[in-house]
Amino acid sequence: TPTTHYRGRFAPTPSGPLHLGSLVAALGSYLDARAAGGQWLVRVEDIDPPRCPTGAGDTILRQLDAFGLHWDEKIRWQRHHHEAYQQALDQLAAQGLAYPCSCSRKQWKAFSVYPGWCRNSVCDATKPVAWRLRSDLAKRPITWQDRLFGFQQFDPDVLGDVVLKRKDQLWAYQLAVVVDDADQGITDIVRGYDLLDNTPWQGQLQVALGLPTPRYLHLPLVVTQDGQKLSKQNLAPALAEDADGIRRQLFQALQLLDQAPPDILAQEPPEVQLRWAVAHWSVEQLVATVHRPYQPEF
Ligand code: GLU
Repeated sequence: TPTTHYRGRFAPTPSGPLHLGSLVAALGSYLDARAAGGQWLVRVEDIDPPRCPTGAGDTILRQLDAFGLHWDEKIRWQRHHHEAYQQALDQLAAQGLAYPCSCSRKQWKAFSVYPGWCRNSVCDATKPVAWRLRSDLAKRPITWQDRLFGFQQFDPDVLGDVVLKRKDQLWAYQLAVVVDDADQGITDIVRGYDLLDNTPWQGQLQVALGLPTPRYLHLPLVVTQDGQKLSKQNLAPALAEDADGIRRQLFQALQLLDQAPPDILAQEPPEVQLRWAVAHWSVEQLVATVHRPYQPEF
């Protein structure tokens, strides 16, 4: 019986259906959790309604189910948790770690990051404000050990004062993800390499809010043969959901995670492939490469 306390999650933004790249992220976090005897949660990151077509969250959940990726506990929908984000922002503001900012990008375009003009008093109180985190008060440098990519180090001055709440009053991903990971007791974050450079902001926020820092495993990004990230913007095809398509794509996802599944597994239904994959899951086999080109075969 497992004794490890492990809680992992998959946290898709429902801007469209899952594609092979997001399947790899979902599968990697699922396998790491199950192999550790832990829980695997799903959180729908639907705090940015303009980017999220109606029903896309449900489509993703149906896709996960079809691929045999069954989750524990209740789905967390970010749109129901505005109060938790506000509470976190209030806490930061009360500590002087977050501040309202009226500046527009145009004003500071000569700088690589926002230079912090509103830190001590807002420049123009008549304008709408965003809320930013003070990076000048952060511990420096920000470091952590990624389970695949090893020691990471970032300078807060280079990161700048990250936006926590936007001028349009929408919550920023950085704040919501940190609050939710803590509320859900997440111990292990497994996600795509495209988010590795977001981790130091999340680390700053965890420290500022007095929250624990989870372990991190960033996974190589699935890219096309010419090096483009699979995404909705470049029209990555949605996952096929016929029985044969499911078997082949799941198998391909295992290959993209360097798990070297035996050929015969490609014929098997998801339950069988996943049972094998959980039993054989090995982070050591993952190659620490940023980009994993894939051959489209569907
Ligand atoms: N919602 C983010 C995305 O889909 C991922 C969040 C995370 O795994 O931290 O890109």
